[in-house]
Amino acid sequence: MSLRVAVVGAGPAGIYASDLLIRNEEHDIHVDLFEQMPAPFGLIRYGVAPDHPRIKGIVKSLHNVLDKDKLRLIANVTVGRDVTIDDLRDYYDAVVLSTGAVRDRELLIPGGDKSIGAGEFVGFYDGNPRFERDWNLEAKEVAVVGVGNVALDVSRILAKTGDELAVTEIPDNVYESLKNNKAETVHMFGRRGPAQAKFTPKELRELDGSDTIQVLVDPEDIDYDELSEQVRRSDKSVDLNCQVLEQYAMREPDGSPHKIYIHFFEEPVEVLTEGDAIVGIRTERQELDGNGGIRGTGKFTDWPVQQVYHAVGYRSEPVEGVPFDLQRHVIPNDGGHVLVSADEGAGVEDKLYVTGWIKRGPIGLIGNTKSDAKETTDMLVADAAAGRLAAPSHTGADDIFDLLRERGVDYATWEGWYKLDEAERALGAADPNFPRERKKIVEWDEMLGHSRAGQ
Ligand SMILES: Cc1cc2nc3c(=O)[nH]c(=O)nc-3n(C[C@H](O)[C@H](O)[C@H](O)COP(=O)(O)OP(=O)(O)OC[C@H]3O[C@@H](n4cnc5c(N)ncnc54)[C@H](O)[C@@H]3O)c2cc1C
Repeated sequence: MSLRVAVVGAGPAGIYASDLLIRNEEHDIHVDLFEQMPAPFGLIRYGVAPDHPRIKGIVKSLHNVLDKDKLRLIANVTVGRDVTIDDLRDYYDAVVLSTGAVRDRELLIPGGDKSIGAGEFVGFYDGNPRFERDWNLEAKEVAVVGVGNVALDVSRILAKTGDELAVTEIPDNVYESLKNNKAETVHMFGRRGPAQAKFTPKELRELDGSDTIQVLVDPEDIDYDELSEQVRRSDKSVDLNCQVLEQYAMREPDGSPHKIYIHFFEEPVEVLTEGDAIVGIRTERQELDGNGGIRGTGKFTDWPVQQVYHAVGYRSEPVEGVPFDLQRHVIPNDGGHVLVSADEGAGVEDKLYVTGWIKRGPIGLIGNTKSDAKETTDMLVADAAAGRLAAPSHTGADDIFDLLRERGVDYATWEGWYKLDEAERALGAADPNFPRERKKIVEWDEMLGHSRAGQ
C-alpha cells in the first residue's frame, strides 16, 4: 500500500510521527510536514532554554530524520489559515496534527493580569519572531509563580549574567537586554510542598550550576506528611528532588550576587500594585492536611518584588476546522484518532489524527512525544490497511505546491532551512566577542531571506 500523509507541526511530536511513518516497512508512506514558522523543531528551538545545549542537541537527530527523501518540509505555512484541514483531506490519505502548545495559562488572582506569562519571556529569550524584542529587566526583586521546569528556566535565565548566556545561541538583542538585567533576587513560589513540586531532579540541581547564583530554601518549608513520604518512597524523581531541596535548605546565604529562593507552602493570592507598577506579591501560608492536600493558615506575607512571572502551564490553541476540547485544551481523541467532539461516545473524524502536546496536554519531556507518536501512527496505518480512509481527490505528489502557489503562499522548504541554518552558524562563528556554534536570526523576513538565498 502506498500512502501520502500530511503532518502539521514540525516540533518533536510531528518529526517523530513523520519518522515512524516513512520508516514503515510494510507500506510505502511519504510525508509532507507543514510548519507555520520559517524554521522547524518547535519548542526545541523556541522553548528549551539556550543554556541547555545538550537538549538543543536533540535537533541533530531530528535533523537526520528530516533529511530523508520521503519527507518534505513545507514551512511558513499555517494550517487553518493558508490551507484548511479540508484542503489537506483532499490532498492526502491522512492528516496528523502535532501543533503543540504555545500559550500561557493565566494567573487567576487579583492583579494577576500584571504578571507576565513565562511563555512570553521564553519567546523573547529564545528569539521567537512572534514575541517582544525588548524586555524590561529593571526589577531587582522578581517573583516567579510555579515550581516546575519552566519556572526553573525562567528563574535561572533571570539570575544568570548576560555574559554567562552570551556563549549560547541567543540573538544580539537578547544579549543586550540580559547584560543590563538588574535582577538580584528571584523568589519562586509553590503552594504545596517539596514532595509535590513538578521539577525534574537534574534541572533542579542545575539551577545551582552558576558561580554567580546561590539557591536557598527555608528549612521551615521542608515538610512532609505521611502521603508525601509514601510518594517519596514510590517515586525516585520525587525523592531526588526532596534530597536536593534539603541540601539547599541546609545552607547559609553567601556572597553570591544573585539569589534564587524556592518557597514552598506559599500560595500567591494577589499581585500588589501601585498605579501600573508592581510593588509586591502577597502569599498565604499553606499547610499539609494529611490527606495529600493543603489548607490555608490565614497567615499572609507580602514580598517586595517589582516584577512577577507565572509559569503555571502552557495551553494549546484550536486549529481552525478541527474539534477542540475547551475544558482540557486538547484535540479530543481516542488513542490518537481525532473524535468529532469531546462528548462521551463521540465518533471519529475521517482521516484526522493527533499527537504530542496537542493530544495529551502540555506535560512531559521531548522523549515522551516518541511513544505518543507510535500510538498515533500505528492507529493511522491500521486504519489505512483496513481501507477505512477516504481516498484524496488530488493524487499528484506536487499538486499541493500548485495549490500553495495559486493561493500566493510563500512557503519555505528543507533546502531553505539548510541555508538559514548555515547563516545562523556563520553568524555565531563570526561574533567578535563570543564566537559560538550558532546565533539565532530573529526577524521573520530575514529568516525567509536566508531560506530563499540563491533562488
Ligand atoms: C519553556 C519550555 C522549556 C522546555 N524545556 C525542555 C527541556 O529542557 N527538555 C525537554 O525534554 N523538554 C522540554 N520542554 C518540553 C518540550 O518542549 C515538549 O515536550 C515538546 O516540544 C512537545 O512537542 P510538540 O511537537 O507536541 O509541540 P511543539 O514543540 O510546540 O511543536 C509544535 C509545532 O507545531 C507548529 N504549529 C502550531 N500550529 C500550527 C499550524 N496551525 N500550522 C502549522 N504549524 C503549526 C508550531 O510552530 C511548532 O513548531 C520544554 C517546554 C517548554 C514550554
